[in-house]
Amino acid sequence: MRTRIIPTYYYKSVDLIEVDKLAKLGYKYALVDLDNTLTGFHHAHINSKGQKFLDACKKYDIQVFVVSNNKESRVKEFCDPLNLKYIFHSEKPFTLKINHFIKRNNIDKNKTIAIGDQIFTDIYAANCLRIKSILVEPVQSKDLILTMINRLRDKKIRKILKDKGLLKGIE
Ligand SMILES: [Mg+2]
Repeated sequence: MRTRIIPTYYYKSVDLIEVDKLAKLGYKYALVDLDNTLTGFHHAHINSKGQKFLDACKKYDIQVFVVSNNKESRVKEFCDPLNLKYIFHSEKPFTLKINHFIKRNNIDKNKTIAIGDQIFTDIYAANCLRIKSILVEPVQSKDLILTMINRLRDKKIRKILKDKGLLKGIE
């Protein structure tokens, strides 16, 4: 099986991620997808699950950056009230822009966890960058048309990974 589609860890949603364990493992930075990870697709504001995750990161001193393929206005509107640094049009699964962002912000890749709801963009990019990752379930089924097509493939792979016992939380 191609290892680039295998996430390091799996949690059902961001609020269930054991941030205390991440901190214990030495993680200092989180590169988090926006749409259907931190909040629903086209939801302008954070929801309670997303907020719970951000609060935990703050408590355990993990700095959160939003990495989104969406356009600037969408990402800015969401991130600015939360004081989150972000990259828009990040072009996941390609890594060039994210790599520049990582260097510009002095992010140590060895202490970084990437979090997202899509295997073929979020997890694939993280593995190409040699960054550990967490796969979550999408917040809602609504999405961009292209993403919805990707989801069919994603669902199939997710089931295979699950059956092989490759979707697990931090032990
Ligand atoms: Mg997403």
